[in-house]
Amino acid sequence: MNLTDKGLFREAALVDGTWIDRADMEVTNPATGTVLGYMPDCTAAETEAAIAAAEHAMVDWKTLSNAERADLLMAWHDLMLAHADDLAQILTAEQGKPLAEARGEILYGASFVRWFAEEARRINGQIIPSPVKDKKIFAMKEPVGVCAIITPWNFPNAMITRKVAPGLAAGCTMVIKPSDFTPYSALALGVLAERAGIPKGVINVLTGRPEEIGAALTSSPIVRKLSFTGSTRIGALLAAQCAPTLKKLSLELGGNAPFIVFDDANLDAAVEGAMASKFRNGGQTCVCANRILVQSGIHDAFVAALSEKVDALQVGPGTDAETTIGPMINAAAIAKISAHMEDALSKGAMRTTRSRNLSAQYADPVVLKGATTEMRLAAEETFGPVAPVFQFETEAEALSIANGTPFGLAAYFYTTDMARAFRFGEALECGLVGLNTGAVSHAEAPFGGVKSSGLGREGAQEGIEEYLETKAFHFGGLG
Ligand code: NAP
Repeated sequence: MNLTDKGLFREAALVDGTWIDRADMEVTNPATGTVLGYMPDCTAAETEAAIAAAEHAMVDWKTLSNAERADLLMAWHDLMLAHADDLAQILTAEQGKPLAEARGEILYGASFVRWFAEEARRINGQIIPSPVKDKKIFAMKEPVGVCAIITPWNFPNAMITRKVAPGLAAGCTMVIKPSDFTPYSALALGVLAERAGIPKGVINVLTGRPEEIGAALTSSPIVRKLSFTGSTRIGALLAAQCAPTLKKLSLELGGNAPFIVFDDANLDAAVEGAMASKFRNGGQTCVCANRILVQSGIHDAFVAALSEKVDALQVGPGTDAETTIGPMINAAAIAKISAHMEDALSKGAMRTTRSRNLSAQYADPVVLKGATTEMRLAAEETFGPVAPVFQFETEAEALSIANGTPFGLAAYFYTTDMARAFRFGEALECGLVGLNTGAVSHAEAPFGGVKSSGLGREGAQEGIEEYLETKAFHFGGLG
């Protein structure tokens, strides 16, 4: 890395304004397989210290005016933009995505901080007409309390800002546990929060193996909320761990997005949308098109056009300017992609894109035609650059396949028939619908899933409600 501001790369956890500097664990650069740096493996005792610091810091933090908290969030936001190039370099070094995409994530991550800084000033309560004459009733909004934030490796910046920014705006304080594959983007956000003047203890960042930290966070009665993004399996496990202390939960979990192209779609737009949805971050996103369903009248033209675009993708280190797909995060990711490919090819799928001779940390971007619901890639997230195309005949058949999984995060469809747009969009079982677009996430719009894809929403006005409680305040004796 060639950072302008070398202080942004911290190999230490942040607890109560103190940097815990221990080289217990290695962090690897996925593009090279070499050691990028080290981090502490935080203990249960350190987790408890971070929770205590957050509890203590909240006394003052929640009594700041909302406008004061908004100003501090905006200062943090401005530093993110000022250091966007360095933050992008750190992100690419630990996560692998191309630098341009990493920079895009920094701007996207910062957009949540700005949005919630603005929303902080609009945390309004309500005056409720009383049923009795001598009484007034107010509904007041209050911060939930200390929050535990556990995030995955695929968006190491934005998955944090879209939880932490609404929480801070609401008056909560945070204990963050980023993925141990990608701790440095989170730690850089901690550095910038300090520089922005956010008081010590308001943001704590713990690094290390997740089980011990997760157990301490979820069992603590002081922690009043858990916001988790990651797999459905770990989300369900953490929800169970939170049950004895009845925490408020936000769970952004796995997806299995269908991407449906009807005969009447604009072919070029559908191919462009499929490229954006399927291949962003090398296919390692929760809203990635996992199953591409194409109606028979447009099927062959779509497969040909998509295959041509996929053949033009450039696979390589994220630091190379021409790279459009970086390395996969680790060997387990590569093994899952290979297993899905082998299973699909053995059950009759056909590859329509060229083969590349890639080294072990990369996955070949591929289009497969002839995909069927019997294949593993229909039921599980592949989380890689494999685009399986399923051919269908009728709208009813497409809907049945689209809704035929336990997941319900994103779904995309392309049509120019407005009646179908409403009919089909309303019938999809998911939290996010992209009609004639492959992008479904902005700070202004609610983001989240239904069914096994999770609970709660991030972004939008709803995003801040997740960090608020309502207190009904009854004023009597006013007759
Ligand atoms: P994961 O294995 O569930 O890990 C997510 C986070 O949980 C990581 O920080 C991980 O730490 C931590 N973790 C793992 N086991 C834990 C435990 N026992 N206690 C406490 N924390 C624990 O998921 P992933 O493979 O990193 O991420 C990919 C998944 O996230 C996919 O399913 C994807 O769809 C989903 N995702 C969903 C959204 C959404 O908004 N719905 C967004 C992005 C990703 P370590 O990494 O250190 O092990």
